[in-house]
Amino acid sequence: MHSKIHAIALDSSKCVGCTNCLKRCPTEAIRIKSGNSKIVKERCINCGQCIQACPRFARYGVTDQLTSLTNFKHKIALIDPVLYGQFHEQFKPSQILNSILSLGFDDFFEISRGADIITEFTKSFIANNTKFPIISSSCPTIVRLIQIRFPGLIDHILPIDSPVEISAHLARKSAMEKLNLVKSEIGVFYISPCPARIFSFQKPVGTKKSHISGTLSVKSIFLEASKNFNKSSEEQPNFYSSSKGIGWAKSGGQCKALGINDFLAVDGIQNVISVLEEIEYHKINDLTYVECHACTNGCIGGSLNMENSFVARNRMRKLIDQYSDCEVIVPNCSLEEYTFTEPLLPLQVAQLDDDISIAIKKMEQIEIELKALPNIDCGACGSPSCRALAEDIVLGYANKSDCIVILKNKINSTIKEDID
Ligand code: SF4
Ligand code: SF4
Repeated sequence: MHSKIHAIALDSSKCVGCTNCLKRCPTEAIRIKSGNSKIVKERCINCGQCIQACPRFARYGVTDQLTSLTNFKHKIALIDPVLYGQFHEQFKPSQILNSILSLGFDDFFEISRGADIITEFTKSFIANNTKFPIISSSCPTIVRLIQIRFPGLIDHILPIDSPVEISAHLARKSAMEKLNLVKSEIGVFYISPCPARIFSFQKPVGTKKSHISGTLSVKSIFLEASKNFNKSSEEQPNFYSSSKGIGWAKSGGQCKALGINDFLAVDGIQNVISVLEEIEYHKINDLTYVECHACTNGCIGGSLNMENSFVARNRMRKLIDQYSDCEVIVPNCSLEEYTFTEPLLPLQVAQLDDDISIAIKKMEQIEIELKALPNIDCGACGSPSCRALAEDIVLGYANKSDCIVILKNKINSTIKEDID
């Protein structure tokens, strides 16, 4: 059991053990122990549902501070297009870029450029592929979910780095060439809408090492950036006005950019799980591409964003419409450079024992424990379901008396005995 992982942490002074997060976690990764929420690291897919579910703001994403910028000679902000939906429409993208620069950055690089590159790569991948549907690899939560729960679908994942990684690589490379700097002198900071991205830089999949130096959350820079609008200089930075690239911020944007017909865009973790189950059982088999987002509405629904995701989605829609006629030049890159170099492997979460005969015995014990439980999945014991409690009891993490129904029955019979 773990109380904390790198991407999501708990302020235990705020947690009251209310079980809201436990009930929302899609992978049964949360337990309530001694009145505090704890995450079982191996089960967590970093979806951020627990952050959004907590009424006391006890859970938060672990990011860097703006002071970390001082560790580098040249600082680059990686701008996710979700940022354009966070501020009121009166602020133009170039003003938003300016206010981000004034937080202490020397330059910025927009991730919509990386998104446009991936769109081109994906088109050529689709043309040469035989295994369909291809599942987008841009949401790290979905990749981890497939590794844990749908290992049979790993071969369907698009084996190309995310737009964030490609953008970080290009931004660093360009700064090294232009300014004659070495790699360690350049800090590439991503302003993240979700904890899954933070985790994916700490533990990258498909590649050995991330190009990101650090992360800040949209929430953490929002206030400071808003103050800086008044300080914006006359000279506005160039905004990369690709409506297709910007569109990646919301669900359906990738499919629209690809210009294909046989696609499915799904958002919200439970919806994604249902669709992946149908793909696994071959109930859905006439699709070319599946774009999955763990968050409702796509990345604009990330738990580290500031704005209501429906309001932000509306702003993004207007912005995309405004720039729909703009011609942009997509940077020329080679697909090989950004294809996964490391294999994607299944992740084991619930190994009962290394010894198969002991594991079978434990499975039998779980069934016996489960029969004694009320099977109402109330969560009051601190485990998300009666089956999860039975498993926790067998693995030594919980006791039968954690079940309040069993405890109540026990108290009642003691009282009865006393009265008798
Ligand atoms: S939602 Fe979870 S983290 Fe928040 S107070 Fe309740 S138990 Fe604690
Ligand atoms: S981030 Fe998601 S998977 Fe991880 S503990 Fe929170 S709700 Fe569960």
